[in-house]
Amino acid sequence: MIAEGTLPVSAVPGFHLLAKPVGAACNLSCKYCFFLSKENLYAERESPLMDEATLDSYIRQLLESSAGPEVQVAWQGGEPMLRGLDFFRRSVELASRYRKPHQRILHTIQTNGTLIDDTWAAFFKQHNYLVGLSIDGPRALHDAYRIDKQGEGSFDDVLRGWNCLQKHSADVNVLCTIHAANADHPLEVYRFFRDELKAQYIQLIPIVERATEHTITLANQGWGGLKGKDRPLYKQEGNLVTERTVPSEKFGQFLSAIFDEWVQRDVGKVYVTTFDVALGSWLGQHNACIIAPTCGGALVLEHNGDVYSCDHFVEPKHRLGNLKETPIKTLITSEKQRRFGQSKYDTLPKYCKECPVLFACYGECPRNRFIETPDGEAGLNYLCAGYKAFFTHIGGPMKTMAGLLRKGRFADEIMTLPTDIQENT
Ligand code: SF4
Ligand code: SF4
Repeated sequence: MIAEGTLPVSAVPGFHLLAKPVGAACNLSCKYCFFLSKENLYAERESPLMDEATLDSYIRQLLESSAGPEVQVAWQGGEPMLRGLDFFRRSVELASRYRKPHQRILHTIQTNGTLIDDTWAAFFKQHNYLVGLSIDGPRALHDAYRIDKQGEGSFDDVLRGWNCLQKHSADVNVLCTIHAANADHPLEVYRFFRDELKAQYIQLIPIVERATEHTITLANQGWGGLKGKDRPLYKQEGNLVTERTVPSEKFGQFLSAIFDEWVQRDVGKVYVTTFDVALGSWLGQHNACIIAPTCGGALVLEHNGDVYSCDHFVEPKHRLGNLKETPIKTLITSEKQRRFGQSKYDTLPKYCKECPVLFACYGECPRNRFIETPDGEAGLNYLCAGYKAFFTHIGGPMKTMAGLLRKGRFADEIMTLPTDIQENT
């Protein structure tokens, strides 16, 4: 199971924890980043830094409760690197101390990249970190929303970080969000990653920022520029979206345009998570929470030990408890979390249950289900039109690649087949 925004997992089979060493604190002020508002959950005078005792308890419990041979220690923010290199050195030490003989550790970190220098890059390489780096495309598209505290674009700082990682041959996964500013430029974005950055792993994630009548005006100003009481806690509520949110149809067109280029020349060379996961669906597997029938296996650990049901539901009603009071294993296997995951399927509208691409979509993530179906049923996904068009568009080639894999051949053989065979196999 792949949790959105990260890579494969462990901690009790099928579970994944994203840990936040500095809570929501960040050195950038990206306009669409509603995670910045999560600092409102904690008192202003409370430090957002994860302390040594919480780190120790977390790593120990994670390794104790993991059943599989691979355990992922995953860090995210805010900007996790603000916690400093010594913290991550300690995390690696603790992981090797508490590791059982058969366990393999995979360290991952999702970062905005602006603080990466040679020392960090060498550390990531030495410990085989998988580094997720957020870049939204070439300069103008990236800088549209990814700005620093002074309102300046962050592109140059991110590129410097990228180049450091390349110099040290660290493993990097580009995480690109799709929003109103870059949605009309799919090939410009994709070719920038492939041809200029030489990126091999790309993750594409839609920006959908929900708002209510009450919050829309503030939300449109951008979460990074708001402070304290002016910045409401972002919750998954309301059926309005900000101006930065990607329009649903454009999201589908964006994915389809990149897919068409990828399937002609890049299969087996460039890994686009959305396409890999979709191929899994055509093979009868559900390799990401958002397209699985049920979810609940991607939880979040906050800096103070609080555990929430999902990174997209860090809000009071989805707090499961604190690992210093209740073992992680108890929290992730709790009835409350089971119900959270089961509701992904139970709340699917009839329209989805009758959809020809249900097997590839399953109504996507519940956080985006806030529009009505054509016959007025609540709970349809805001991105439905885009997903439906995309999954329909890729059906022919996906069937072909799945067929090749089932015969023990390779998916990249599709690039040697004439287009009309790709489409109709
Ligand atoms: S709510 Fe469920 S589907 Fe959505 S990101 Fe969280 S775990 Fe995945
Ligand atoms: S494409 Fe639309 S109707 Fe079909 S499963 Fe996805 S959200 Fe539901």
